[in-house]
Amino acid sequence: MFDYLIVGAGFAGSVLAERLATRSNKKVLIIDKRSHIAGNAYDHYNEEGILVHKYGPHIFHTNSKDVFDYLSQFTEWRSYEHRVLASVDGQLVPMPINLDTINKLYGLNLTSFQLEEFFESVAEKVPEIKTSEDVVVSKVGRELYEKFFKYYTRKQWGMDPSELDKSVTSRVPTRTNRDDRYFTDTFQAMPLHGYTKMFENMLSHPNIKVMLNTDYKEIINEIQYKEMIFTGPVDEYFDYKFGKLPYRSLEFKHETLNTESFLPAAVVNYPNEHAYTRVTEFKMLTGQKHSKTSVVYEFPRAEGDPYYPVPKPENAELYNKYKKIADQTPGVHFVGRLATYKYYNMDQVVAQALTLYKKLTEKVEEDKTIAEIEKIVKGKSLNGSAIKISTNGSH
Ligand code: FAD
Ligand code: UDP
Repeated sequence: MFDYLIVGAGFAGSVLAERLATRSNKKVLIIDKRSHIAGNAYDHYNEEGILVHKYGPHIFHTNSKDVFDYLSQFTEWRSYEHRVLASVDGQLVPMPINLDTINKLYGLNLTSFQLEEFFESVAEKVPEIKTSEDVVVSKVGRELYEKFFKYYTRKQWGMDPSELDKSVTSRVPTRTNRDDRYFTDTFQAMPLHGYTKMFENMLSHPNIKVMLNTDYKEIINEIQYKEMIFTGPVDEYFDYKFGKLPYRSLEFKHETLNTESFLPAAVVNYPNEHAYTRVTEFKMLTGQKHSKTSVVYEFPRAEGDPYYPVPKPENAELYNKYKKIADQTPGVHFVGRLATYKYYNMDQVVAQALTLYKKLTEKVEEDKTIAEIEKIVKGKSLNGSAIKISTNGSH
C-alpha cells in the first residue's frame, strides 16, 4: 500500500515525492507516461554526446532563495545569464528591447534619457491595460510592437496579442538601459550536470518507486494508495466534462551541425520570418565543449503534447469550473503547470509544490490529532452514539 500515488515525474511531482518520502517517511509511487523522469525539463546526451533539452530550452531563474536552496540539495550549479537576439529588419538586435536595440535598429545614438522621451512620444494611451497588445503599445508604441511582438505572438499562440491576457507579453520587459539579459532574477544558473541528473538525485530514496511508460489510468485499479497527487492536464482528469481546456503545443526540430559554433547568442528569436519562433544552441546554455553543436527549432502547433496553458479570459473561466470540482475531490491534489492551468516557470512550480507539501503535512499532523482525540473520546459519548469528527480537505 502506497501513501501517495503521484501522477507525473516533472518538477511538481518530483518535489512532492522527494519531500513526502524523505521528510514525512511516506511510501510514494511516482508514475509518468513518458519514458523518462524530469517532465518538460528533461535533458539527455544525444547520439553525438551533446547535452540537449528534449522539450526546448530550459533556463533556471528565480528570486526565491527558498526555491534555490531547496534545489541546491540535489545539484551543483553553473552560473549562467541568458541573452537573446531578435532578427528584425535584417539585423540581430538585443531582446528584450533596450537602449542598444533601438540605437542599432534605427542607426541612432540616443542616451537612456532620450530613449525614455522617445518611448513616451510613441506610446499609445490605453485606459486600462488588459491584453498582451495593450502592454506593449502602451510602453513602446505600435511600430516596435509590430516589429517585435505582434507576429511572434501570432505564430506562438495562433492568435492576435489583443486576444491574450496581458500576463503573456508582460513576461518580457522593456528597458531604457543597456542591460541585455533576458532575466534579471537574483538567482540565474543551470544545473551543472543537467536537469535529469538533478531529478535522479531527488528521486533516489528507498521510499520512492518510479514507474515509467505508464498512464495512470492503466494502473489506477491495480494498486492501492491513500491519496493521489495529479500533475497532468486537469481537464483530462475529469474526462473533459466541461469541454477541453486549450493548451498550446510545439514541435521541436533537433539538429546537430558539423561546426563548433552556430549562433551569435544562445537563442535567436524570429518574430517575423520563418515558421519557427526561435532557435537555441544548447552548448551556450550548458557550457559544454564539443567539436559539433546541437540546436533546436520550435514550431508552434495547435495539436500535440500540452505545453502552454493559453491565458485568456474565457479559458480562465473554464478552468475555474474544473478548479471547483478539483477542490471538491477528496484525496486528490492538483499541482503544476497543467493541473492548475498556470503559465508557470520552473521555480514557480517548485514553490507551488513546496506549498502543497506544507499543507499536506499540516493535515497529516491534524489527522494525528484527530486520531488522538478519537481515541480519547471513544465510547465516552453520553448517548453512546459515535462522535463524528469531520476533516477538512486541504486542497
Ligand atoms: P511537466 O514537466 O509537464 O510534468 C508533468 C508530467 O506529467 C509530464 O512528464 C507528463 O508526461 C506526465 N503526465 C501527464 N498526464 C499523465 C498521465 N495521464 N499519466 C502519467 N503521466 C502523465 N521554465 C523556466 O523556468 N525556464 C525556462 O527557460 C523554461 N522554458 C520552457 C520552454 C518550453 C518550450 C516549455 C514548454 C516550458 C518551459 N518552461 C520553462 C516551463 C517548465 O517546463 C515548467 O514550468 C515545468 O516543467 C512544469 O513542471 P510540471 O511538473 O508542472 O509539468
Ligand atoms: N514574445 C514576443 N516576441 C519575442 C519574445 C516574446 O512577442 O521576441 C511574446 C510572445 O507572446 C511570447 C511571450 O512574449 O509567447 C513570452 O515570451 P517568453 O520568452 O517568456 O516565452 P516562453 O519562453 O515561455 O516560450
